[in-house]
Amino acid sequence: MKKVWLLILALCLLAAPLTAQGEECGLYIPKVDLPEDFMMGMDVSSVLALEKSGVKYYDHQGQERDLFAILAENGINTIRVRVWNDPFTADGKGYGGGNCDINTAIEIGKRATANGMKLLVDFHYSDFWADPGKQMAPKAWDGMKLDAKIEAVYNYTFDCLTQLKEAGVDVGMVQLGNETNGMLCGEKIWRSIYKLMDAGSRATRAVDPEILIAVHFANPENAENYESWSFKLDYYHLDYDVFATSYYPYWHGTLENLKNVLSYVQQTYGKKVMVVETSYAYTAEDTDFSGNTIGEGGSFEKPYPFTVQGQANEVADVVKAMADIGGIGVCYWEGAWITVGQQSFEENSALWETYGSGWASSTAAEYDPKDAGVYYGGSACDNQAMFGPDGKALESLKVFRLLRMGNQVPVVPDAIEDVHLELDLAGEIKLPETVNAIMNDGSRREISVVWDAYDAAAMKAGGVQDYVIMGKADGMDAVCHVSMVQFNYLQNAGFEDGEDGTWVATDLRQTEQLYVEEKKSDSLSGVKHYHFYSANAGSVEFTLEQQVTGLPAGTYRYEIAIMGGDGGQTEIYSYVKINGEEVARKESGITSYNNWDIPVIEGMQVKEGDVVTVGMYVKCSGAGKGAWGKIDDAKLNLTAAQ
Ligand code: CA
Repeated sequence: MKKVWLLILALCLLAAPLTAQGEECGLYIPKVDLPEDFMMGMDVSSVLALEKSGVKYYDHQGQERDLFAILAENGINTIRVRVWNDPFTADGKGYGGGNCDINTAIEIGKRATANGMKLLVDFHYSDFWADPGKQMAPKAWDGMKLDAKIEAVYNYTFDCLTQLKEAGVDVGMVQLGNETNGMLCGEKIWRSIYKLMDAGSRATRAVDPEILIAVHFANPENAENYESWSFKLDYYHLDYDVFATSYYPYWHGTLENLKNVLSYVQQTYGKKVMVVETSYAYTAEDTDFSGNTIGEGGSFEKPYPFTVQGQANEVADVVKAMADIGGIGVCYWEGAWITVGQQSFEENSALWETYGSGWASSTAAEYDPKDAGVYYGGSACDNQAMFGPDGKALESLKVFRLLRMGNQVPVVPDAIEDVHLELDLAGEIKLPETVNAIMNDGSRREISVVWDAYDAAAMKAGGVQDYVIMGKADGMDAVCHVSMVQFNYLQNAGFEDGEDGTWVATDLRQTEQLYVEEKKSDSLSGVKHYHFYSANAGSVEFTLEQQVTGLPAGTYRYEIAIMGGDGGQTEIYSYVKINGEEVARKESGITSYNNWDIPVIEGMQVKEGDVVTVGMYVKCSGAGKGAWGKIDDAKLNLTAAQ
């Protein structure tokens, strides 16, 4: 009896730390139903170079530990490593990016195996970075005829995997190339690419038939490419198991699209599918004095905030997407590639150059002069690592383990969405009272905001200009970007949107041609304008007008441009109606080509709720040649708010 109670007590004590860890974590993490063997991968190819550069890693308790032990206890079960044939100069200087050759892979593989994790071997079949933009053959294979290259790929793959096996490394998967979007090892024809992949495949099967064989592509946002590539692999009967993709949400489309694209390959060809590279920024800051791929500016999608929670949410969503379609895993890219120092560019640069811990060293210029040779430097993804610049594990690293059980915490704001406002110079300067909070579960919620003091009078007096006003919402920084502009209250003011219904033309006689025309040389600005013409003398008579509602009360100014000729006796004027009553009119006319007249009506008083119609009346009663003309660039501006 006593023994039983002791046993129960012991089990409770064992279970306690697990429960406590879950509750300790401040991250919101949904539970995702996953098979036991779902691959939670982490690429740490640069780790040896980083350690040589002095980088140390610390677990969530702040204890300095072996990186592989930290990863394993956080749910990582596969380590990915890239393999370059010979990333060294003739005198043995590394190209950088971790100087990842097979020796590096063996050492990384041994440490992975020692910590119970499998190794995913990512053969680039190149001496340095291979991606959709470049797939250069290794130096030693350059200029080889295809048959010789096929043999080289076979022998190299066989030799590398044999070495890994003899070193006791548990290789779970092999990639036949990296992001091989229509190129591999210097070959650009699919039949040749297939033959090289086939050589790698045969060599892998010969060493160990248990190893999964993967192909790897990028840019799933282009579904047609994925259909085409998977078809070609099937057409040539490539022996492979896994169709893998990169998925970076900045550039690679939606998760819905990703699922569709991979499901197609899975269902059409019966292949396993997975995301073999993904990552997300936890901060916009660079921490190693060498610019990052993803930062504050730039043109890319940002579906999650750059926070630790945002990073975890990205991983959770990608894992869930794979779980939804029966994908076999997700591998995070270079989650430990942090800064080698926090003092200066010069100190870091010396370490990158010596140990190859930056993305490229200057020595790589001999192999890749246009890219590495120009832009060599440190880590371009230190802000996407799952360790801080001090080497301590971020909370987000827990996501791989906690996803299997979920970690429910209260839903609270995690970040505040920036506000972008265009304000009329003549209008009221009023900032919103609420901002959108991005909650830790990814949802949005409006919360109140307090803006710092700003000088509205100075902003109105300052003309067309941009301002940034900071504020606080729920203790977090809020940012309001204000552009002071002279607002044009007309839609499609320059006719660039074509016939969109905003302008209404009414033919009052027999005007033969009345339409939006696209012809840059006949437009005052842009490429389109409103065109009129009649071959018959005296048949032109029409109005062109636009109705505007919801105007702020105040004083307004209206202008519209016209040019043309052959009108004979004309009656042409711009006008303004308020609630159907004409309140102002300004005479105009047409004289000759490119001689634009711009009648201006000022001082119209608009009250709240008024319906304002602005327009132009044109009547040409000339005998002989037909009248013609162009109308463009209307403006309705508030000049003084009431
Ligand atoms: Ca950096």
